[in-house]
Amino acid sequence: MAFKSDPDLLLPLECHKFLRFGATIPNDDTSGLRNYIDTVSRVASCYFGSRVRDWDEGEGVSGYYALDDVKRSIRSYEQLDEPEVPTTIAQFVLGTDPIRELNLPLYEMKPVLGKGQGLVARFNIAKGQLIISEKPFFTTSDATSAAMMEKQISIELRKLPKDAQRQFLSLHNNFPGKKPFSGIVRTNALPCGPDSPIGGIYPTISRINHSCLPNAHNSWNSASGYENIYAVRFIKAGEEITIPYDHGGPSDERRRHLKNAFGFDCDCSICSRQPAELKQSDERRRQIQHLDGEIGNPHRLMQRPGDSLKDCQALLQILEEEFEGSPGAHIARLYYDAFQLCIVHGDQARARVLAERSYRARLACEGENNPETKRIQKLMEDPKTHPIFGMSMKWKTPKNQVPRGLSSDEFEKWLWRQGR
Ligand SMILES: [Zn+2]
Repeated sequence: MAFKSDPDLLLPLECHKFLRFGATIPNDDTSGLRNYIDTVSRVASCYFGSRVRDWDEGEGVSGYYALDDVKRSIRSYEQLDEPEVPTTIAQFVLGTDPIRELNLPLYEMKPVLGKGQGLVARFNIAKGQLIISEKPFFTTSDATSAAMMEKQISIELRKLPKDAQRQFLSLHNNFPGKKPFSGIVRTNALPCGPDSPIGGIYPTISRINHSCLPNAHNSWNSASGYENIYAVRFIKAGEEITIPYDHGGPSDERRRHLKNAFGFDCDCSICSRQPAELKQSDERRRQIQHLDGEIGNPHRLMQRPGDSLKDCQALLQILEEEFEGSPGAHIARLYYDAFQLCIVHGDQARARVLAERSYRARLACEGENNPETKRIQKLMEDPKTHPIFGMSMKWKTPKNQVPRGLSSDEFEKWLWRQGR
């Protein structure tokens, strides 16, 4: 969104990419510039809260982000997801926030054609915005048998207030039979962290339906005990909010898994494509699986790191294409893999840049208070604190050896060690 015509005075639509906003205010400010800066600060504070920091170059303090980072960010927000400006922005500019004042959530629960209940955006939601943060009814333990699990859930259920019990029992059960509580849990639980055997069941979040091209990302915050849902792309008012239930792979694999585990036939925007287009998507999904495997190969990581780094760069492009420019948490993970590759070989300069990109991607889809976001932020500040630092010193560089003054293309060539 442009407040003024000066190209340096632009505030991007996707506000998580907004890193730095500067202006020189003359002592005899008659143009209202001070008021204007205050408005920008207020808009930024609505989105970022305590992350907004002031600096004053006149006092020798420099901004948190270097100008190179800012320029890179500007280039990335020049490609907007959607041309529309969220309707709520106007209210921020006027200094009021109707959502907070009326305490209206960003979503509403509604019947969705062919899917039972679902969550639908009540307002336009910007990419990187927190949609809902919710505590589970309860979390499941790593039960040894189905009978034990049923018993444990019934104990947890009895502890809940009556209306919460009713909400739990109204959730979909894909495994009707003698163990109804476990059936509901198996159908609706979200793992508390990637690959965690512990699952959480939620009053609202458990109603969010699946898409193979989701517009939101779910993550467990182990510090707060809340599950959080962030928008990974611009979501238009009225659009259904979706998260991924699948483990990736081509459409036939995904659809089989979704049918077995959750009892539905996926008709998302990818699965319902024409055969030729679906085939292209399936090919990309296969490549994603293949490259993921190659990058995770520890022998290759130590012996042929250059090849692994090339794979990271290739995967980045495929993810961007397959997830239409908003690969969310996939990107955070990919940059983290590339970070590990550099730090294990002692390359602190590239590791720092890669950790920062991973941090920014994670910030946008899991928030600043997620312990994983904080951990990566620390690595970005001091990459050598990672336990695998310098197992080999093949690519040794100090952390301040990030080149300056390169064009964007040259910088990417340096980062991915092209031509070396
Ligand atoms: Zn699908």
